[in-house]
Amino acid sequence: MEVLNKIAVDNLRHYLQIPSVHPNVDYNECVELLQTIGKDLSLPVEVIFVKPKKPVVIITWKGQRPELKSILLNSHMDVVPVFEEEWKYKPFSAEIVDGKIYARGSQDMKSIGIQYLEAIRRLKLEGHTFKRTIYVCFVPDEEIGGKDGMNLFVQTEFFKKMKVGASLDESVATEKNEFRVFYGEKNCWQFTIHCKGPTGHGSLLLERTAGEKVTHLLNKAYAYRSAQKKIMSGDPTNIFGNIASINCTKIRGGVQDNVIPQEIAISFDCRIPSSYSQKDFEEMLIQWCREAGGDCDIEYHQKEEPVLDTPIDESNIFWNAFKRAAEKLKIQFDTHICCATSDSRYLRKVGVSAFGFSPINNTPILMHSHNEYIGLDTFLNGIEIYREIISELATAE
Ligand SMILES: [Zn+2]
Repeated sequence: MEVLNKIAVDNLRHYLQIPSVHPNVDYNECVELLQTIGKDLSLPVEVIFVKPKKPVVIITWKGQRPELKSILLNSHMDVVPVFEEEWKYKPFSAEIVDGKIYARGSQDMKSIGIQYLEAIRRLKLEGHTFKRTIYVCFVPDEEIGGKDGMNLFVQTEFFKKMKVGASLDESVATEKNEFRVFYGEKNCWQFTIHCKGPTGHGSLLLERTAGEKVTHLLNKAYAYRSAQKKIMSGDPTNIFGNIASINCTKIRGGVQDNVIPQEIAISFDCRIPSSYSQKDFEEMLIQWCREAGGDCDIEYHQKEEPVLDTPIDESNIFWNAFKRAAEKLKIQFDTHICCATSDSRYLRKVGVSAFGFSPINNTPILMHSHNEYIGLDTFLNGIEIYREIISELATAE
């Protein structure tokens, strides 16, 4: 076992030492490392370029009954930028200090990609085979929305031939003993409302000015926000997932201190749960603009069609398999709607049962933060957790 643990930690450190960091990520070194590990596991490795410089690496462990729906173990190769001066240890050196590996990507989510492979190494060594084919995929660009990553990959013939039934991807670390599973995510809308009105000397009291319209819209938005917060505080089981959020993120306008501006543009970020009617939400925005006095035009930057949540009831054999694994492992988890956007939405869109799960508990959430780390024990324990979850998913019926 010690030898296997050393291989796992060495592979993780090597992967973390590759600075696959935005912007303009060079994925070559990641691809080479994954090809080496795949070869070491005696598994075929394929590399598909969904766009120039945007590789997807697919490692395949073929099942005894390849006609069945397969299992996809997904992770992304890219990481978010670092502010090196804030780090205690260099973010791409993967130093081990007091039993923790410090590096960008140690939680989000290079550890998980390696855990999948090391769990498979152990299962293979023990002589296991499964009826469902298992694919381990490494995708680019998740941290910039996945448009040139998973979004394109699910549209390829290669992906269609994989016949994926269920997938695993990341969730978040938890400070508690229990883990967190995501089964859906909020829909993200980002838009700018261009509020127009009469312009003139700053001393005048003109009617229906851009400033008054902005005031009305901000009042409406923040009243709605307060009401949503109130719903959340009244529901002890709900952290954040089942309510909508709205925040004003930008305000621009004006030319000079003594001139009433012709236009003020305000931008918003909204996250809407799939249980809300998107149509009602849009109508509410139009209503606000009308009440503000008109001449308020909404320009959408991001407005995707809502994606159905993955069912988490008895009807879903993959969910039953996941729960069986958790029971065997005696681990506790809670289920949530993810408040951000992740690659799982592209998979759900094409009918895959997608679950977000990160086997990182009793650990502060340091994704996208400095001094990101994962405990060695936590990392190695995660391999054992995946061993069970993969076994159950790959035999689900
Ligand atoms: Zn991530």
